[in-house]
Amino acid sequence: MEDIIGQCPICFVGMTDLDGNPYVLPMNFGYQAGTLYLHSGPEGGKLGMLAKNSRVCVTFCAGHELTYQSPQMACSYSMRSASVMCRGEVEFVEDLEDKRRYLDLIMRHYTDNEFGYSDPAVRNVKVWKVAVQEMSGKVFGLRGHEKI
Ligand SMILES: Cc1cc2nc3c(=O)[nH]c(=O)nc-3n(C[C@H](O)[C@H](O)[C@H](O)COP(=O)(O)OP(=O)(O)OC[C@H]3O[C@@H](n4cnc5c(N)ncnc54)[C@H](O)[C@@H]3O)c2cc1C
Repeated sequence: MEDIIGQCPICFVGMTDLDGNPYVLPMNFGYQAGTLYLHSGPEGGKLGMLAKNSRVCVTFCAGHELTYQSPQMACSYSMRSASVMCRGEVEFVEDLEDKRRYLDLIMRHYTDNEFGYSDPAVRNVKVWKVAVQEMSGKVFGLRGHEKI
């Protein structure tokens, strides 16, 4: 499951809006040892939602290759794909050094470049930490020991 998460460029973060309806956003992320890290600006609808209910369900999906056994048989079509679902609660990180460390983890998911942050940028950004309480994975359209 961690291997699948590592292959994904983004995740989909599901939360509950202020009326109790589902609200799902694509987001960038970092992951290390059972904890997800996300970041956002300091304002926006999602933050009001999380203040009311911090529980999230985060889904990752790797591979989207269409496969079929018979091109004429609709029910033989499937996607060679794998997905992972993580559940947990968002905690906002306040300590500036911790923020930098977790932003590094997010950045490292995307680049090997050298990078840095200005103090105002680190102060301004919201860093979300989600200790994963439940994780499940499913594969689709793979045979035997095939991997994504
Ligand atoms: C590939 C990708 C990666 C992203 N990574 C990040 C990230 O790491 N951090 C981050 O903060 N944001 C990221 N975003 C943007 C994120 O999906 C939200 O659009 C953004 O965070 C604003 O969310 P909000 O709830 O504060 O929106 P608000 O500004 O409160 O949105 C107002 C309304 O706009 C609509 N809306 C908001 N976002 C979207 C959306 N994505 N698609 C369609 N309608 C929308 C909704 O109807 C919402 O009620 C990413 C987007 C993409 C496509």
